[in-house]
Amino acid sequence: MLHENLQTWSDAARQAHQARRFDRLVRTLRSQNAWFQAQWKDVPPARLDYAHLAEVPFTLKSGLLDDQKHDPPFGSNLTYPLSQYIRFHQTSGTSGTPLRVLDTARSWDWWSDCWQVILDAAGVTPDDRVMLAFSFGPFVGFWSAHEALQRYGALVLTGGGMTSQQRLAMMRDLGATVLICTPSYALRLAEIAGEQGMDLARDFQVRITIHAGEPGAGIPATRERIETLWGAKTFDHPGASEVGAFGFSCTARNGVHINEAEFIAEVIDPETGLAVPPGIPGELVLTNLGRECFPVIRYRTRDIVKALPRHTCSCGRTWLLLEGGILGRWDDMITVRGVNVFPSAFLAILDGVPEVGEHRVTAWSDGAMEQIHLDYEDLSGRDRGDEIGVLIREKLGIRVTVAGAAPGSLPRFEAKAKRFVDRRKEPWAPEPVN
Ligand SMILES: [Zn+2]
Repeated sequence: MLHENLQTWSDAARQAHQARRFDRLVRTLRSQNAWFQAQWKDVPPARLDYAHLAEVPFTLKSGLLDDQKHDPPFGSNLTYPLSQYIRFHQTSGTSGTPLRVLDTARSWDWWSDCWQVILDAAGVTPDDRVMLAFSFGPFVGFWSAHEALQRYGALVLTGGGMTSQQRLAMMRDLGATVLICTPSYALRLAEIAGEQGMDLARDFQVRITIHAGEPGAGIPATRERIETLWGAKTFDHPGASEVGAFGFSCTARNGVHINEAEFIAEVIDPETGLAVPPGIPGELVLTNLGRECFPVIRYRTRDIVKALPRHTCSCGRTWLLLEGGILGRWDDMITVRGVNVFPSAFLAILDGVPEVGEHRVTAWSDGAMEQIHLDYEDLSGRDRGDEIGVLIREKLGIRVTVAGAAPGSLPRFEAKAKRFVDRRKEPWAPEPVN
């Protein structure tokens, strides 16, 4: 198992390892990376080290995007001559312009190293046949997983460029035992299998599902729904194109560990930029230690997480554990009468209600007040709007308007799900619900 001795280390051992890697990385960037030379021009070199980590400037996605806009196509966050880079990927661009990222042969190996930890933690073995149900394209998750699985010795079934029906048929016919895709798509595939008359329990052998590309697999109700449909154990893997494959859920499945051999994680107050104590939600800030060709130092992910106090997990690892994984995007937070809510909270509730299909959360403004409207597909044929409204009031402490929609009428997703619609800056109000 890769990094096995590092996964159970003491705080002192972790800090010594991170300090050595971080300080070496900073020295390289100060001499070779134009972006970081510019970012750090006013910081005394003696303050640019692990011991003064909290003083090192943050890296913002907006800054990297601006850099690529003014210095196209790749910007100046390049530690080596362009000829040394072999892989190009980009972020999904869900919230604007995609960020382009490049890797050298060495950092591409590093991606694969990080994936070995994820595969180990989920219990994948070289005997497994693994379906990668992502589209071909510049999404790094597909290619890094592909590379890692080959190295791991598993049989890779590439589902890029196929329809859902073709992917299902291939999984059934070739006896796929592991499925890697977004959590939304695992549910979508199960829905299509049902429409095609396939029986997931009888016709399929999937025993493990690993989910990347969006949060969801860390939410207990969603995880249970996927596990029940597929008869499999479900694992969460948060990662990001500009950061790396940084997180994974273990067999304890009580959250997401950070791979602290390769990443330094901090949790900060998004308003002040200062560290928050364990147990308090804050923004995840990450530094990748093994991608010196295109690094991020103290990168503001905008993801909200809650770190548990340091402890030894029941899986044996001492690596930082984020309770519930990624809880939501900071930008998506809605404040209803003083209560902060993330759209993922609705997933956590609705996936636990039988016979609810897709849903959509719309935030809107009623004058100065933020409000939430929820559309959900009711497969039961009854009107359960009031019942669901009460459930949300009990669990979240807020009132929302709820409207039932016909089965199959709300959008389906193959990659990142877009179940949250932000209409807070538009003149919009839901149709009155009877
Ligand atoms: Zn664990």
